[in-house]
Amino acid sequence: MAELIDGKELAKKIRSELKQKVEVLKEKGINPKLAVIMVGNDPGSTVYVKNKSKACEKVGIEFEEYLYDEDLTEEELLKVIDKLNKDDSIHGILLQSPVPKSININNAFKHISPEKDVDGFNPVNVGNLSIGEDAFISCTPYGIIKMFEEYNIETEGKNAVILGRSNIVGKPMIQCMLAKNSTVTVCHSKTKNIDQITKNADILIAAIGKPKFVTKDMVKDGCVVIDVGINRNEDGTICGDVDFENVKEKASYITPVPGGVGPMTIAMLLNNLVKAAEKRL
Ligand code: NAP
Repeated sequence: MAELIDGKELAKKIRSELKQKVEVLKEKGINPKLAVIMVGNDPGSTVYVKNKSKACEKVGIEFEEYLYDEDLTEEELLKVIDKLNKDDSIHGILLQSPVPKSININNAFKHISPEKDVDGFNPVNVGNLSIGEDAFISCTPYGIIKMFEEYNIETEGKNAVILGRSNIVGKPMIQCMLAKNSTVTVCHSKTKNIDQITKNADILIAAIGKPKFVTKDMVKDGCVVIDVGINRNEDGTICGDVDFENVKEKASYITPVPGGVGPMTIAMLLNNLVKAAEKRL
């Protein structure tokens, strides 16, 4: 039976460490502040933004929301970002996805100053992560790495299989696992015989957005299973990409949904924001 990786508890510990760092920054005259831009009113995004706001409040980070109707043009959005880039009172800028289809989100991410890119989506940060230089690391992969460190989970020389190749989770996760000396395989919607690949995984990270996709027969005994997926069941509850109840019988470690990767993602956003503010010292 797997040991549970408690992301909620670890996130709490990280927040309490960050709270102390925020106090030190404030004593030195720096008041850490995060600006969050949201375009349109996607219900999921509204919940995520609220959770981020609450988390900021818990550690003493100021939080400013910039809410726009879905008819905001890309040009107008870039102007908002420009203004926030130039505003010295703001240490981090986050653009909540999704944005309306009329906006090219990559253009927007490119526009966010790399020094304020606390989500780690600007190509400068993406590139620095891939060449092993200091970077803001995308929050979900970074949170997963923190979990491995906290639970002393060996990554070196291990076969890490990542399901999903999105820019926000799968791809930065590849770089993070390479940096931790794992041998990395990545699967996506065109991959054939996924179950044969997952059976070889010492560490399996599922980030595809398909409820209970990873079943017990897809994992080997003792596999470390990290579930990034957030899927809504018909009754309104949430489940991950892993069939938790059955897979936990074979895994050595497993993250629950909710209470696993999700809280860690927000904790690492706060961590990145504090890092951005500390760079001003
Ligand atoms: P995404 O942009 O939709 O990407 C999904 C990826 O999964 C794509 O690379 C896609 O392949 C692949 N995929 C889809 N169906 C597949 C299948 N049947 N077999 C193999 N690969 C498949 O999603 P995302 O933004 O990365 O998010 C993934 C999940 O994680 C979602 O449930 C999301 O809500 C959740 N999430 C959670 C957190 C958190 O903090 N816990 C943070 C971010 C996202 P192609 O590239 O070939 O299309």
